[in-house]
Amino acid sequence: AESRGRRAEDGRQKTEEKMKEKIKIIQGDITKLEVDAIVNAANNSLLGGGGVDGAIHRSAGPDLLEETRKIGGCPTGEARVSGGYDLPARWVIHTVGPVWKGGSQNEENLLASCYRNSFAAAVEKGVKTVAFPAVSAGVYGFPLKKATEIAMRETRQFLENDDLLDQVIFVCFSQEALKIYQETFSTRITA
Ligand code: ADP
Repeated sequence: AESRGRRAEDGRQKTEEKMKEKIKIIQGDITKLEVDAIVNAANNSLLGGGGVDGAIHRSAGPDLLEETRKIGGCPTGEARVSGGYDLPARWVIHTVGPVWKGGSQNEENLLASCYRNSFAAAVEKGVKTVAFPAVSAGVYGFPLKKATEIAMRETRQFLENDDLLDQVIFVCFSQEALKIYQETFSTRITA
C-alpha cells in the first residue's frame, strides 16, 4: 500500500510538472503572438464582430473573412479552422462560446466543448503551440472566474492524455483577468 501511495504521488508530481511546463499565462494582445494557432472567440456567423474577434479579423486582413464566409458558420460549442493570413499565427481556430444566460442553459458544458473541440482541431492540424483568449468572458458575459476554471480543467484533461502539443498560452487582455488566471492555475493545476 505504501508503494502504491508513492506511485500515485509520483504520478501527481509528473502531471504537475507537465502542466507547469506546457501552460503559460500572459497579458497581451492575442493577435501579436507568433504561435501555430490562435483561438478566436467567434460568433455563429463567423463573419467577425467586436472584441477579440474584431481584432483578429482586422489583423488577419480581408482574406480571413472570405474564408470564414465559405465555411458558412459554426454552432455554439464547436470549432472551425481557417488560415491566419496576415497574422503571425498560421491558423485561426474559431470557436463559438455560449452567451451567459444565468447558468441554466447548459452554458458550462458548451464552454467546455469549445475547449475540447479547439484542442481536437489543433491536433488535426499538427499544431504545437496554441493561444486562447477568455472565450465567452467578454461581451457574452460568462463569469470570468468560472470560465477560467473550465478552461484550466479542460486544458489539464487534454494535456494529461496528449504528447503532441508543446504549449498552451492563455492570453489575458486585462490585469484583472491575468490575476484570476494565475490564481486559478495555482489552485486547479498545481494544488
Ligand atoms: P465573447 O463574445 O466570447 O465574450 P469577447 O471578444 O467579447 O468574446 O471577449 C473575450 C475575451 O477576450 C475578453 O476577456 C476580452 O477582454 C478579451 N480580448 C479582447 N480583445 C483581445 C485581444 N486582442 N487579445 C486577447 N484577448 C482579447
